[in-house]
Amino acid sequence: MRPFQYIAILFVVLLAITTFLHFTGIIGFLWLPAICLLYMVLLYSGVTKIQWNYYLHSYNKGHNKHFIALTFDDGPNTETEAILDILKQEQVPAAFFCIGRHIEKNQAVALRMHDEGHIVGNHSYYHTSGFDWMSSKRMLAEMEKCNSIIRKVTGRQPLMFRPPYGITNPNLYRALKASGMISIGWSLRTFDTIAKDGEKLKNKIINKLSGGDIILLHDSVPLTREILTDLIRQARKKGFTFVRVDQLLDVRAYA
Ligand SMILES: [Zn+2]
Repeated sequence: MRPFQYIAILFVVLLAITTFLHFTGIIGFLWLPAICLLYMVLLYSGVTKIQWNYYLHSYNKGHNKHFIALTFDDGPNTETEAILDILKQEQVPAAFFCIGRHIEKNQAVALRMHDEGHIVGNHSYYHTSGFDWMSSKRMLAEMEKCNSIIRKVTGRQPLMFRPPYGITNPNLYRALKASGMISIGWSLRTFDTIAKDGEKLKNKIINKLSGGDIILLHDSVPLTREILTDLIRQARKKGFTFVRVDQLLDVRAYA
């Protein structure tokens, strides 16, 4: 059973006990809405916090104290080629969690990712905010549509899926299980998409870095491209080695 199933059982039991205690006059009525509210907060936090592993298990961090992994979401995008140039120059392998419809339009860039030794992972086909509200059947269809274009471009069948917006729920659990893929989360969310100051962003990442980290970045953000070289060099100075996320986690990126 997943944590959300244990919590659901606990909620029903607690609700039954508080209802009984209320009707026997031992506790006041407010306990009932308070417990319901707590349950709703837990449900919401479980959906939005991928590290909780509330609805499904995601790989969020490795165990090696010296290894760290870069991951870029939402490509191929405006900064992808410049980022690939930097990764090549610095000899850093990374993972790109790509959006299927972006690959359709930029197949050469996706092939370049693969040819230069990076992972091309699945980040859904459309990446709409409606993805999290879909049935597991529709989610699965979208995931397979993305896999199909990755297969067409790289010749490989991806096994790694990064949930759009890091949202997880029971439908995604069922879709992932049916797809045979694993969920890859992160341990260091950089918030690069809303950052305004490159120096601050880079320093924040460097100060937070710890062994086994999976770093979440976006190849749609100019600031990310601007700080990348310094970020890599300063992380290396701190003694970290960049590895691909499959090596960090000791799992397979492709079937
Ligand atoms: Zn995304």
